[in-house]
Amino acid sequence: MKRTLSILAAVLFIAALAAAGEQPARKLKVFISVDMEGVSGLIHWDETAQGGPDYPLFRRLMTEEANAAIAGALDAGATEIVVRDAHDSARNILPDLLRPEARLIREWNGPLSMMEGIDRTFDAVVFIGNHARAGTPNAVLKHTMSLSLYDLILNGVRLPEAGWNAAIAGYFDVPVVFLSGDAAICRQIREIVGPIETVAVKEGMGPAASMLHPARSQELIRKGVAAGLRDLKAGKPYKPAAPYKLELVFTDENLARRASLIPGVERTGERSVAFTASDFMDIIKYFRLARM
Ligand SMILES: [Zn+2]
Repeated sequence: MKRTLSILAAVLFIAALAAAGEQPARKLKVFISVDMEGVSGLIHWDETAQGGPDYPLFRRLMTEEANAAIAGALDAGATEIVVRDAHDSARNILPDLLRPEARLIREWNGPLSMMEGIDRTFDAVVFIGNHARAGTPNAVLKHTMSLSLYDLILNGVRLPEAGWNAAIAGYFDVPVVFLSGDAAICRQIREIVGPIETVAVKEGMGPAASMLHPARSQELIRKGVAAGLRDLKAGKPYKPAAPYKLELVFTDENLARRASLIPGVERTGERSVAFTASDFMDIIKYFRLARM
């Protein structure tokens, strides 16, 4: 009897091993949203705009930072990677220089904007090339979505673009696990979503900045993305509580007047409006309309 039991145990053990071997590899689907102002070496608006003499150099460095993030994701076992070109024309990343393991989303489309392409099938979000919100001291090319918006306040929290994009990811229950950009946005994102992995590729000094070498930045981005993805369980989706209140403060009162024409929007001041909704997708759509 004892011998029969030990044979049975051995058979069960081998069957369990075989079953484990047949299980599909763990899925790890990563969304990488890439902005440009926070790319290593970049300091001036001319360098971010098509037609600027140094734009070709910086779009290549933007592509290389995206590649560093893809490499880090692959190091951590990513099985699917989508890169969203999220700056200005959304046509900056050089498609032929981007690593072939990723798909690339170009041009603008719907209200998800810099997060266009994200959905619930993703496991993690990575932000590359980010910058601090408008009004931040010692921050490189600080602004919030456009130069005509001074403040984007969600449920009382002043958000930089990366915070807004984190909330969009949170709507789909996807956590942000990594951000690179200047030192100011690294501090701001951690205040909003918690202590995620960040890499500060430059530190603002008024309108100037002290920079890491692009190659060094890319090495740190690769390591940081891999570390963030390996610690996936620590990342919580950023989900402000319903009902949601979005307050927008513009730089010009005419923009507030126009944004207040949408039914349900309250004009809260000379340059400000507020919109409340119980579905966060309504907030996302309203914001898209209000800043057109
Ligand atoms: Zn940008």
